Amino acid sequence: MFEKILIANRGEIAMRIQRACREMGIKTVVVHSEADRDAKYVKLADESVCIGPASSAQSYLNMPAIISAAEVTDAQAIHPGYGFLAENADFAERVEKSGFTFIGPTPTSIRQMGDKVTAKQAMIKAGIPCVPGSNGALNDDEEEILSTARKIGYPVIVKAAGGGGGRGMRVVRNEESLLNAVSMTKLEAGKAFGNPEVYMEKFLENPRHIEIQVLSDTYGNAIWLGERDCSMQRRHQKVLEEAPAPNIPRRLVDRIGDRCAEACSKIGYAGAGTFEFLYENGEFYFIEMNTRIQVEHPVSELITGLDLIQEQIRVAAGEKLRYKQRDIRLVGHALECRINAEDPFTFVPSPGKITTWHAPGGPGIRVDSHVYTNYVVPPFYDSMIGKIIAYGATREQAIHRMQVALSEMVVEGIKTNLDLHRTLMHDPGFIQGGTNIHYLEQKLAEMFPETGK
Ligand code: ADP
Repeated sequence: MFEKILIANRGEIAMRIQRACREMGIKTVVVHSEADRDAKYVKLADESVCIGPASSAQSYLNMPAIISAAEVTDAQAIHPGYGFLAENADFAERVEKSGFTFIGPTPTSIRQMGDKVTAKQAMIKAGIPCVPGSNGALNDDEEEILSTARKIGYPVIVKAAGGGGGRGMRVVRNEESLLNAVSMTKLEAGKAFGNPEVYMEKFLENPRHIEIQVLSDTYGNAIWLGERDCSMQRRHQKVLEEAPAPNIPRRLVDRIGDRCAEACSKIGYAGAGTFEFLYENGEFYFIEMNTRIQVEHPVSELITGLDLIQEQIRVAAGEKLRYKQRDIRLVGHALECRINAEDPFTFVPSPGKITTWHAPGGPGIRVDSHVYTNYVVPPFYDSMIGKIIAYGATREQAIHRMQVALSEMVVEGIKTNLDLHRTLMHDPGFIQGGTNIHYLEQKLAEMFPETGK
């Protein structure tokens, strides 16, 4: 096992990884920007290295600075967390070439899944159902593009192969606007992602976002750890997640979960990962694979009893998976509310000093956060300041626990989205379960017709 791991991230996930390491008796090195000098996990780390100014381009995305920090501190492995360099194949490659272990899949896997066209092709080959669409990237033949769309049937969605974060997509509802949409998306994709390739899919009107957590080792063993429902989204950003997904027949989830685990073995995937699907009318359609730990991983941890960060570390250290599929039992229900420093209804970021931070507690409540009273939320990064995770024997109990937790929680000095979560936890549609990916935006539009948000 590693003696020392460098954490190449910030915020709640840096704290989370550090806790996992400390529990395993592994020393931690934290790299941080000048803006994060006073963070709690920096103080708690065995060693810390300032790698640059506040701007992430010069700090958390600065590959040479991070690798030098690993060299000077004699760290053996680097955990990238999520965001920043977590899905950057070049970074993973440079880490390995410099003699360190990258805690994540191989650069080849990251590259394959990072390009949505090659990812989809690999998935079709591995027997994973995908959204019907073009066979690979679109070429320049206008007639062919038009006939592809006719075959798929409108509406279609044109998506960038290199896209991410909900960007680089265009819905097309009729033939007249297709060619223009394709060239616009190509142009934007080239600029934003350095890759102008686009592909086409059937646009599903009212799907749910359901994802499968997988874990595999370097010996070809793979398991899946239940599903998560992440349909509560705004502008493709997840707001609230839960596991298991309500109101989907278990046999359908079990079947897709087994296929995902098999696909991991087939594509030689090692580490933690997520297969994202759209679910509509009883069918799952693969959209993309995330080759990293995800923000919403705690809900899977609570229903399986595993520590996913520790399992990632074990796999990276060359250990065999300690579980077979039959050892995995999904017990109870878990919900996660992402707490953001932003206005709860206009979503304008609200950085600044937290004058009061009172986190909830009690049975079944977990708080993953790096902040505290008098912590200053810097304006330079993602606005998420923590996550409240509630576990219950049933979904109903988890909701009740989350309602109580949210009512206890106090954050003063900055605005947060706590009130949005309080509203959602009492929302009849949410309580019933199984809402689709447009539900939250429709609800917000009803609540605030004038803003159109
Ligand atoms: P990203 O990597 O940018 O997150 P995804 O491929 O995961 O891109 O898609 C993000 C979101 O876009 C999905 O969660 C869904 O809301 C929407 N979307 C993507 N593909 C489709 C589709 N074929 N039909 C309907 N919605 C889609």
